Amino acid sequence: MQIEFQRAMYPIEDGIWSPCFVCYADFEPSTIWIHIEGEQMCERCLRWFSERAEREPELGWPTYAEYEELTRRYPTPIYETQEGSCEREDYSEQFMESWIRR
Ligand SMILES: [Zn+2]
Repeated sequence: MQIEFQRAMYPIEDGIWSPCFVCYADFEPSTIWIHIEGEQMCERCLRWFSERAEREPELGWPTYAEYEELTRRYPTPIYETQEGSCEREDYSEQFMESWIRR
């Protein structure tokens, strides 16, 4: 199973994403988007997976501490607004760059 981080491309309109792929709760994404098997996951679920990641590093899952560090390093999304950002000339380049390599 793969858990990946991506720098937020833009602020989410009205701030709520729904639902988390794991717990089905609505949640407010931060400036780091969390993906599990290509779907959105919330911070609370990441915390749960993180406990296991710490116990079993061979799983290769990122930890909550890594996530917190990334939110400090990237306090803002790549684009200021969602509107029109997908039509930007550099969108695909920025999208590729937005994935956090570990
Ligand atoms: Zn969740």
